[in-house]
Parts: sequence; structure tokens; C-alpha cells
Amino acid sequence: MKKHNFSAGPCILPQEVFEKASQAVLNFNDSGLSILEISHRSKDFVAVMDEARALALELLGLEGKGYKVLFLQGGASTQFLMVANNLLQSKAGYLNTGTWSSKAIKEAKLYGEVIEVASSKDANFNYIPTGYEIPEGLDYLHLTSNNTIFGTQIKDFPTTSAPLICDMSSDIFSRQLDFSKFGIIYAGAQKNMGPAGATLVVIKEDILKEIDRKIPSMLDYKVHLSKDSMFNTPPVFAVYTSLLNLQWLKAKGGIEAIEKENEKKATLIYSEIDLNPLFKGFASEKDRSTMNATFNLTKPELESTFEKMLKEGGINGTNGHRSVGGYRASMYNALSMESVGTLVDIMSDLERKA
Ligand SMILES: *Cc1c(COP(=O)(O)O)cnc(C)c1O
Repeated sequence: MKKHNFSAGPCILPQEVFEKASQAVLNFNDSGLSILEISHRSKDFVAVMDEARALALELLGLEGKGYKVLFLQGGASTQFLMVANNLLQSKAGYLNTGTWSSKAIKEAKLYGEVIEVASSKDANFNYIPTGYEIPEGLDYLHLTSNNTIFGTQIKDFPTTSAPLICDMSSDIFSRQLDFSKFGIIYAGAQKNMGPAGATLVVIKEDILKEIDRKIPSMLDYKVHLSKDSMFNTPPVFAVYTSLLNLQWLKAKGGIEAIEKENEKKATLIYSEIDLNPLFKGFASEKDRSTMNATFNLTKPELESTFEKMLKEGGINGTNGHRSVGGYRASMYNALSMESVGTLVDIMSDLERKA
């Protein structure tokens, strides 16, 4: 039986994407060859790469606005250092909203001065700081739009004259934003876009200035841009599967349509968390993520009963991250309302039984 998959990443993808991807492994485009054995320079794969890049821009509403798309490797974690390597000349600002922001800060410090404009570390990152000042003269300001581990999400983005760089790994393509506010958006594919192995980087080309530093080719955005994301062998299968997922999203009505579904799913689980006395939400209410809901049992002695019920209900992947504990329900685009309903029913059953 197919499970209800609430895994934080790698995550659930639509069933039709799994099916089409499997077919391509056996016989890609009726070519008599597997997607896994064709040249990345072949006409068929170049078409995949071109369509994936164009469709990502189209879905984000960034066509004709000076942006280019790359599919790179090394995960969002490599972007932590690539961003700083390519853009940090004197000083950069970072908003520290969790584990991933902290890791980005650590890498950036290898390249220059890092100013932490604000942090929510004082409360184990259960909120998004507000009312902080952003110094003038930053090379860029770095943000993490959705904090996968803690279950918080930035709703209002700060404005500043410096380019905004945003790690959107866990909420890319999930909600409508004015994406043209950002200089670089990056995301490890495996949270909401595709399988592990590809990293989406959307760059506004004019933010790339000359910098007093030698950048190794593989880490240089300009090199990858000049080769249309084909400087070296791209992650062929991950790009193809991401394309299938982007096509699925477009056919559903794009980000506008999926955002409505994501909001319904989030409303359903958060109302259960708030109404059921056995559960308590972790993240501050105003900053709750529509993608990752984090919560704890108020009666820890019910843990084994609850976990047994989850298992019997076919629920997978709801354990919280070790730095928060408790539970985390990740509700990425492909997770159905029905799956969230099943989880919520189990939570209310627990209340009846307890
Ligand atoms: C998972 C995650 C990362 C790390 O991604 P990798 O692709 O594993 O390097 C970075 N940022 C956020 C917000 C994440 O959720």
C-alpha cells in the first residue's frame, strides 16, 4: 500500500511523476535508450534542460526580467559557499532563522565580513525576527524563506537596496511571491521540486559584479551561465524528474493553484494542533510554515500509542528533527489533502482514546 509520506526531504512527488520517470529509465522518448545512458549533449536531453529552465522561470513569473536558471549539483549546502564566493566583497548581511541559515553564515565567514542582522536563536528558532535594522553598504542580504527544521516561514520579506539572496529549498513553487525582489533564489530540488541531486539556482544576471577573488570554474556562476548549465555533466535524471514535476505543477494551474491547496492543508493540521489539548505547536503562530508543521505531544506518555497509530495508518516521516524533537508534518506540493486528513483523524482519535 502507498504510504502517506510526510517526509521533510527527499520528499513525496506526484504519482504520475514517479510513473513517467520510471518509464524514462526503461525507454526515454521511445528512443530505445534509457534516460540514464544518453549523452547530456544529445538533442533530447538538451531539450529537457532548456524546457526545465524555461518552465522554472515561467512558473516563478520571471520571464523577460533579466533572470537565468541553472541546475547545479552539490545541494543547497554548496550554494552557501557559492553565494559568498561570487558576491561577498566586503560585508554581507544574514538573517539567522535556523540551522540552515547558521550553516550559510559559517560558510560566508570564509570569504568576508558577515553581519548577523537578527537571530531567533534565543528561542530555539521558533519565530522569525522583525524590526531589525539592515546596515547600508551590504554586498547582499541572505534569507532562508522557510525553516524546514523549525517550521517557521518568512511572510513579509525585508526591503533593502542590497540584492536579496534567498534559500527557498523547502518552499519554492509552493506560494506566490514577488520573485523579482530577489537577486538569487536557490533550492535543493529534493524538498519540493524533484529528487535529490539537482539544485535550482535562479539568478538576476546583473547582480554578478567583478570581484577581487579568483573563483574556481565549478563554483563560478558566470561560467555556468555562459554554458547554459552544461559546463560539466548535469544531474541528468534529477533534472528530467524535476521537469516532470514542473509540468505537473503547470497543468494544475501553477503556483497560484497549488498555494490554495497548500493553505487548506496547513489550516487543517494547525486547527487540529490548536484544538486538540494533546498537541502543542512549536513555531510561533504568526510565523507558521505552510510546508512543515512542527508540534509536540503535551502528554509524552502517549508517545508509543501515538506512534503505533501513525504506523497503522500508513503515515511515514512525521518524526521531528533531532534539534526540535516531537513531530513534523511536511506537506509539500504533492502531498494530498487526503493524507493530511488521515493524519488529523489519527490525532483526534488519540484524544478520544486518551
Ligand atoms: C534541506 C535544506 C538545505 C540543505 O540542502 P542540501 O541540498 O542537502 O544541501 C538547505 N536549506 C534548507 C532550507 C533546507 O531545507
